[in-house]
Amino acid sequence: MRKVAIVGAGQAGLQLAHGLLQKGFSVTLVSDRTPEQFEQGRVLSTQCIFGDGLDTERRLGLNHWEGQGGEVETFSVNVAHPGVPGERLMHFSSPLEFHGHAVDQRVKFAGWLRAFQEAGGTVVMQAATPESVDDLAATHDLTLISAGKGDLGKLFRKNPERTPYDAPQRQCSLVYVRNAAPRKNGQGVSANLIPGAGEIFIIPGLTQDEQGRPLAYDSLLFEAIPGGPMDIFRDVKDPQELTAKLKDYIQQVIPWEAERLKDAELTDAQAWLMGGVKPEVRFPVATLPSGRPVMGLGDTVIVNDPITGQGSGTAAKAADHYLTRILERGDQPFDEAWMTQTFEDFYNDYAQFTCMWTNAMLAPPPEHVLNYFGAAQNVPSLAGLFCNAFNRPRTLFPWLGDPQAAADLVAEHTARAQANA
Ligand SMILES: Cc1cc2nc3c(=O)[nH]c(=O)nc-3n(C[C@H](O)[C@H](O)[C@H](O)COP(=O)(O)OP(=O)(O)OC[C@H]3O[C@@H](n4cnc5c(N)ncnc54)[C@H](O)[C@@H]3O)c2cc1C
Repeated sequence: MRKVAIVGAGQAGLQLAHGLLQKGFSVTLVSDRTPEQFEQGRVLSTQCIFGDGLDTERRLGLNHWEGQGGEVETFSVNVAHPGVPGERLMHFSSPLEFHGHAVDQRVKFAGWLRAFQEAGGTVVMQAATPESVDDLAATHDLTLISAGKGDLGKLFRKNPERTPYDAPQRQCSLVYVRNAAPRKNGQGVSANLIPGAGEIFIIPGLTQDEQGRPLAYDSLLFEAIPGGPMDIFRDVKDPQELTAKLKDYIQQVIPWEAERLKDAELTDAQAWLMGGVKPEVRFPVATLPSGRPVMGLGDTVIVNDPITGQGSGTAAKAADHYLTRILERGDQPFDEAWMTQTFEDFYNDYAQFTCMWTNAMLAPPPEHVLNYFGAAQNVPSLAGLFCNAFNRPRTLFPWLGDPQAAADLVAEHTARAQANA
């Protein structure tokens, strides 16, 4: 029986731990939080995962909360008018071919951690250090670090060629609210782009109420350009006050979202989060003082700004990819060459598109992207292509970075729509 140690019980670490345990591996999972600490702690994310990412969980039977609420069936994009406050310049939306789902990570990680222990996995409750990681590496065939944005990530060197920014590009403010009215055109994500200020995302999700019953909620995620007109919430110290201020801002700047949020209130006292995320891609292998290699997984080696809602989905897909490669490895050693190749294949086949797209979204949209959005208002297939790319970011390329390819695509879809009219 091969022995694998995983440090960090989050989206990637828990998912891979379950996958390996199901395949007969001896798995040690190091978590710095108990299930109760997850449940009672602050929210961690908006965690919306789209169809293909959810499939990786379903294949392991980890979709414990499916069908209980919070599903994401549609996606809509609004661009606020830069010259007329409170007006929309553009709007398009589309049903999602494969529905998304957001399960409060406090609930999900607590549930998955308990299920892992019940299934016979070994859990070590500890905040791992480089020294304790070295001890694990000495006694396991493979040691993975999936500690998210935690300090252990510093073991892994930044890859400067894949990291265009050296500071957070947005200041995030997040609350979960209940009692929003249902959407008129299906439950889904609403992305609101406010030129020069940032973005506001309203995302359905599922959490639990005080009695542990399923509770549907909406995330209000503000992504403010640092120093810009939306960057006014940094000093708020109280979640109720933050909720009131975010609702007030919505009323003033994107009033088309305000009516259904009229009675919305914080789901619980811990349902708020503030801060910035520094986008970074790191090299996948760290060498410990003993000379042993360990491998990074999830946010530890690929961190994206939340603006495209890709982090959990990418972590889920990375866990799925690593699982396949570990199983294929049979009895051969998990050496540095294997670690590097496993990561590179994931990056080249999938993650590079997520990173390129996310980093592009952090810059002001170029003209060809605004032209695409303009055309998508009248051509449903263009709207569908963009909205469904949240599931498959690769489909945004090459047009996202290539004005001619974008013009050709718009012309092709527009002509087809006119022919079918
Ligand atoms: C505001 C915000 C909104 C977001 N919205 C979305 C979204 O809508 N969709 C999406 O896909 N992604 C979203 N993300 C990103 C997503 O939450 C992360 O990318 C994802 O959780 C990463 O998974 P992971 O397993 O790599 O890390 P995590 O899920 O962060 O898990 C890391 C785990 O390691 C533990 N840990 C840390 N240090 C140690 C240590 N020393 N020892 C032991 N354990 C340790 C942590 O406690 C945690 O349990 C968002 C992020 C933010 C900040």
